[in-house]
Amino acid sequence: MWHASSLRHWPEHGVTRMCDNHEKPVSAEAFADALKAGVLQFRQSVFPARKALFEELAKAQNPDALFLTCADSRVVPALITQTGPGQLFVERNPGNLVPLYSEQAVGVSASIEYAVAVLKVKHVVICGHTDCGVVKALLHPEKVADLPAVARWTGFGAQARRRLLEEHPHAPEEEQLRILTELNVLNQIDNLSTHPSVRKALEERRLAIHGWVYHIDSGEVRAYSADTGRFEVWPDA
Ligand SMILES: [Zn+2]
Repeated sequence: MWHASSLRHWPEHGVTRMCDNHEKPVSAEAFADALKAGVLQFRQSVFPARKALFEELAKAQNPDALFLTCADSRVVPALITQTGPGQLFVERNPGNLVPLYSEQAVGVSASIEYAVAVLKVKHVVICGHTDCGVVKALLHPEKVADLPAVARWTGFGAQARRRLLEEHPHAPEEEQLRILTELNVLNQIDNLSTHPSVRKALEERRLAIHGWVYHIDSGEVRAYSADTGRFEVWPDA
């Protein structure tokens, strides 16, 4: 299991400027103004306070982990892990899916290869989340039948769906979604092992792979435990 104590914590406020006002901006102009204010605040306040770190990072990156998660706006890797610039190499896509390895150029595969073979990250975290639109589409493929690109993409989670329907065919919808979210993470860990760079790193015992589900409503991370075969609140303190 990943020991969080090994992380170099980003101080004080977390890496992300939190806005207490959750109301959506009323117009595109208002959001543009908010973006402008944020960029300005970063340049004038945040950057100068950590100038030495950014100057160091300008020369090279040496991240500790590849963090592969959903593109969902509510999942903010640096926020939920309280990590800072240079620590996570992040790959995001709808549903935190890992395509099976093939010779065809796929962005996700390139990220994995670069992070594992070149940057030599020591950890890969596959992080799913609650209320995921892709997991819902996996459960109800008929709803995306007229979206061919989405339907093809969700095919990389087909193994999770098969397992759900075999093992929990009559569970209530909400329970099926929870289980499928977890099975999807395990499915992607399986898919990850089809990538030669990952297989090599595992053989050389220099890579640990972690399966997480981030719960938006509670702020909890539940991590897969090989000991119990379940996703459990992590860390347990
Ligand atoms: Zn999602």
